[in-house]
Amino acid sequence: MSYSVCDHREEVRLDALYQLSLLDTSPSESFDRITRMASQIFGLPVAAVSLTDRDRQWFKSRVGIDHWSIPRDTAPCAQVATTTQPLVIEDFQTDPYYADSVLGRAGTRFYAGAPLVTRDGHGLGALCVLGMEPRRASPAELAALVDLAAMVMAQIELQHAFGRIDPVSGLPTRSQFHDDLIDLARDRPGEPRLAVVVDLARDDQISRIARAMGGARVDEMIRESSRALRNALGSARPAYHVGAAQFAFLSPPGVEHAAYQQELRAGFAAIRASSSVRFVTNVAIGLRPFTLGDVSADDVLRGAASAAQDARSIDGAIALYSPSNDIAHRRQYALLRDFGAALDAGDQLRLEYQPRIELTTGRCIGAEALLRWRHPRLGEVSPGEFIPIIEQTSLARPTTQWVLDAAMSQLADWSHKGRDIAVSVNISAANFSEDDLIERIQLGLLKRGLRSDRLEIELTESAIMAQPDRALAMLHELAAAGICLAIDDFGTGHSSLAYLQRLPARVVKIDQAFIRNLTGAAGPDFVLVETMIGLAHKLGFRVVAEGIETAEAAAVLTRLGCEEAQGFWFARPMEPAPFVQWITDRQQQGQLSSRAA
Ligand code: C2E
Ligand code: MG
Ligand code: MG
Repeated sequence: MSYSVCDHREEVRLDALYQLSLLDTSPSESFDRITRMASQIFGLPVAAVSLTDRDRQWFKSRVGIDHWSIPRDTAPCAQVATTTQPLVIEDFQTDPYYADSVLGRAGTRFYAGAPLVTRDGHGLGALCVLGMEPRRASPAELAALVDLAAMVMAQIELQHAFGRIDPVSGLPTRSQFHDDLIDLARDRPGEPRLAVVVDLARDDQISRIARAMGGARVDEMIRESSRALRNALGSARPAYHVGAAQFAFLSPPGVEHAAYQQELRAGFAAIRASSSVRFVTNVAIGLRPFTLGDVSADDVLRGAASAAQDARSIDGAIALYSPSNDIAHRRQYALLRDFGAALDAGDQLRLEYQPRIELTTGRCIGAEALLRWRHPRLGEVSPGEFIPIIEQTSLARPTTQWVLDAAMSQLADWSHKGRDIAVSVNISAANFSEDDLIERIQLGLLKRGLRSDRLEIELTESAIMAQPDRALAMLHELAAAGICLAIDDFGTGHSSLAYLQRLPARVVKIDQAFIRNLTGAAGPDFVLVETMIGLAHKLGFRVVAEGIETAEAAAVLTRLGCEEAQGFWFARPMEPAPFVQWITDRQQQGQLSSRAA
């Protein structure tokens, strides 16, 4: 038999049905209540929302029926689906076609069905009622059945739109982008295109705006930006809402990269000029060239988003996809994704302790606790790599809490064993916004019976300068609680003298960048360090130099009156047991050498 127009129409109809992903899904009250109404209106015990699959009628909703499906062959609902017309069978026994059908043989005498029709005119099946006695359907009953069938369709469309249209922007979502890209690749395989991702702001900027001005304000900004974008693109090319504050669209076919980049830049400048939204002044745009059919929708979007991330750090805020940057972003993303699990794992995180040496006596008077992460797949990851990533997320709080708990427990353990060591802990700028931070520290100390002056908190100068007022308030609270404070990475954060003077910190730690090449010769580093130490002393700070790698640097710093030092020349960061062993060895050596002297 040849393939007929009829067969083609049926294939298209089935395709429409399958696209809705309704078959074999669970029953749902939103459909059942319509089915119950149909049964009540007719005063009949059996009613169903019946969908016409290739060879079965499958019931999305049913009243008075035990099974989920019946064969499609000679089912009246199949006729309703293919004709998209209502059907009434007043008496199966007198109907030449249906008398011998599955339903007819099972004793059904009456049937009324109204078609379930999509907007495109495809019949999916029927809303039907069945009776065991012959009967008529009044025009009013039939009209009600048709109305109820329309309600079933509205429900189907609602469920289908859910997750495909973003409720805030009204734009199609990431999953719609995914489906549309598959369709486009089928229509135009091999065609080169550019995917564009427009990133309105970083996630942490969004949450900051939400905190400061409320979530409704963020929604409003998203709406205004999406409207501007939709207007700029016109109706032929859709914009998609693919992330919290991220939109995507495709270039028209056949554009040249550089020219299109120029066009986008001009377009966004125009949007920016006409918009009241402060937001869109922060946009970053990423472009990802790809070939339709060669790359998955997820890869296209991720690549363009990775380019948008690059765009944040360059002028003009527009960047073309770079595979090597993408690898870096992917690693950052993986680290961020896995760090939450690391906090719970119990065996991935640990602290190492780097001794702090009093330069005049050579004694170890404390240690800095430094976080270490052994990733199950990637191995050791440096805090220099993962801290800046997690600091920008909500993980900053549990991370600092983990470090504080581990350090305080270690302090308590040493204190029980009669070792008097002070420990300093690094905290992030993000921790400033935690109202209960100081309370949590105090509680932790109290619980373990520790003196508050055994714990020192280190904050980098640049973290302090990023929120100077907030930092000052928090540092005063910490100082009032008797906790020592150190300004870390001193010399890199552009703080003013006037501001430094107001800080209730006791210690500044000169950044290792100034110490690394320090020699006795009066080079530029020497002059800088000499000036810094002098200044810090005048302001009443105790000075710690970080990153001492040579005996010469240690000697110079001692000469310049620097109180303490930390660096590989003395010791690398160590786990607790080797750290204690190191102190013991050093004490013994000290006794030996003083005896020898
Ligand atoms: P930082 O607080 O300035 O810590 C000093 C860093 O210098 C440590 O690197 C230490 O191992 C390294 N270091 C010490 N002496 C020398 C030396 O002589 N030469 C050289 N080249 N390096 C030396 P680490 O452990 O890799 O930590 C890097 C940064 O990560 C830290 O800088 C700190 O900003 C951050 N960090 C580490 N642990 C934590 C933590 O628990 N919480 C937070 N918020 N940040 C942390
Ligand atoms: Mg530090
Ligand atoms: Mg430092």
